[in-house]
Amino acid sequence: MPSIALAPAAEKTPPWTRRPMGRPWPILAAVAALLALVVWLAYAWFHQAALRDSETRGNAAIERLASDLLVSVEKFEHLPYLVGAEQMLTRALQSPGDPERIAQANRYLLFAQKRTDVAAVYLMDTQGHTLAASNWDLPSSFVGRNYRFRPYFQDALNGGTGRFYAVGVTTGEPGFFIAAPILSASQVIGVVAVKIDLNAFEDKWRAEGLQLALSDDKGVLFLTTEPAWRYRSLFPLKGAVVSQLRETLQYGDPTPVTLIERAGSAPGPTVQAMKVGGVPYLVQGRPLGRFGWQLLLFSDPAAPRARGLLAAELIGMGLTLLLLLTALVWQYRRRMAERQASMRERARVVAELEQRIATRTAELTAANDAAVQTGKLALLGQMAAGISHEISQPLTALRTLADNAGKFLDRQDTANASSNLRLIGELCARMGSIVGELKAFARKEPARLQPVSLRHVIGSSLMLIEPMRHASGTRILHDDTDLQVMGDPIRLEQVLVNLLRNGIDAMESQRERRLDIGVRATADVHVCVSVQDHGPGLSPEVQQHLFEPFFTTKPGGKGLGLGLALSKAIVREMGGRIEAANTQPGARFDLILQPAPHTRDPHARPAD
Ligand code: ADP
Repeated sequence: MPSIALAPAAEKTPPWTRRPMGRPWPILAAVAALLALVVWLAYAWFHQAALRDSETRGNAAIERLASDLLVSVEKFEHLPYLVGAEQMLTRALQSPGDPERIAQANRYLLFAQKRTDVAAVYLMDTQGHTLAASNWDLPSSFVGRNYRFRPYFQDALNGGTGRFYAVGVTTGEPGFFIAAPILSASQVIGVVAVKIDLNAFEDKWRAEGLQLALSDDKGVLFLTTEPAWRYRSLFPLKGAVVSQLRETLQYGDPTPVTLIERAGSAPGPTVQAMKVGGVPYLVQGRPLGRFGWQLLLFSDPAAPRARGLLAAELIGMGLTLLLLLTALVWQYRRRMAERQASMRERARVVAELEQRIATRTAELTAANDAAVQTGKLALLGQMAAGISHEISQPLTALRTLADNAGKFLDRQDTANASSNLRLIGELCARMGSIVGELKAFARKEPARLQPVSLRHVIGSSLMLIEPMRHASGTRILHDDTDLQVMGDPIRLEQVLVNLLRNGIDAMESQRERRLDIGVRATADVHVCVSVQDHGPGLSPEVQQHLFEPFFTTKPGGKGLGLGLALSKAIVREMGGRIEAANTQPGARFDLILQPAPHTRDPHARPAD
């Protein structure tokens, strides 16, 4: 059979089923890069959002605390003016050597301090010398001290309001100083100063859990929740400012240490990342009224960063999960599609194969039929000589017998006439049987092959041969079998009957007449049915012509010599062959046939 070449599948497959790129790494790398970019963008976006959020909240807090501070400070703005309006102080200024007037002024100032709950109230002459103070009777008394060097004194002496935050040179306590001039006939004759304690604000801010600082107009932090930052400047100070601070002793003796090494502008409402004293902070600030102060809020940059990171993590994880899920679904669909495609392909191949097999079978059958027919015609050609011989002889005999029968009737010899007529009948019958055999053989229809049960065929053949077996006194032993062969049951019987009859004929002159029918599966996957007799066997001469048409050794028209020639043709038509051999004793004829599909093993068991 020619090999069957199958065309490659031309069917369209869905896009996801097409074999993907040989190397998936570039795509994986691109996806990973994209994922990283999205995660980074998410981080940046959420970090910014958290920053803006903390900025807004920070500005609200600063706003509230700044106005709180301003209100607290400004409510004392007019206190030195009010206190200074008291004539008692004017009198003390006019007679500083009068102990009684000074004592009166002291008591008055103590009264004013107690009533307004400020840190101290005190009176200075135009030289900055303290004449009277609310703390006159304490060890930390201002009386006798000179504050000429303080800017607030100078501002008041010049007729304005002095404002100044400083560490007290006497007490060491920081405070906010507000000073006002005392006028007499439009002349400044002295200065009244009020010291306000702002330390309470630090506690208040701390209680809110905030990190805050108040810087002065020079950039020095004087009020702060962080003790380490106190009297330190946020940015480096100019030389002139440093010497000014030394002169005024604003924050005591030490030169302010810088918290941030680089010079920079004061923080505004937008958060700025800064390293304050080496620690990273987000800083925002707001200027505080006319004082030139600035309220600064410091917050931890880790919090917005953590929010950004958390969001990025969640988005990253979500996206990764989504990608994995997508990949899984994609792979699953691809597998399914591949499986379907391969199933369709297999079905297509099977259909194509079946189609080819059917076509090929039809071709082979046609070729076979033609070959068989040709074979038959060739055999008929071979037979022609024999036939003409076989028929012309009886015809001559018929003619003679008929002529003689006519003469016998003329002579009224009816006995001989009827004998001749009987012989004529016999000859006609013989010719009829020759013609019949040939007619059956020359039929155009091919043998219809089908699974044939050998048990059945053997049984029928034994039945057909039974009269002859009985008359000859032959014993026939045969195997029972389950085997089936491919064949035409009637023709197979014809062959088997022929072999049995030949066997019985061959044993005519034997004392023991016995035939053995055997069935076995052969090594080359065929089924062999053998008929063995106990006769004289086949002489070399007989063996040479055994299967030729009209070859017979049987006497007196007993055999036509067609049995084996036809048997051979019939068996070949069934895809089998017939073989003859001598055995001890007798001859054996083997029919080697095609097994039917799914035939079972024979159970060789001789039976009578
Ligand atoms: P026929 O039986 O009409 O003679 P066959 O073709 O069947 O024609 O047989 C041809 C010849 O083969 C027989 O005449 C016989 O000489 C020989 N032959 C067939 N079978 C046997 C056998 N079992 N033993 C010996 N000779 C046989």
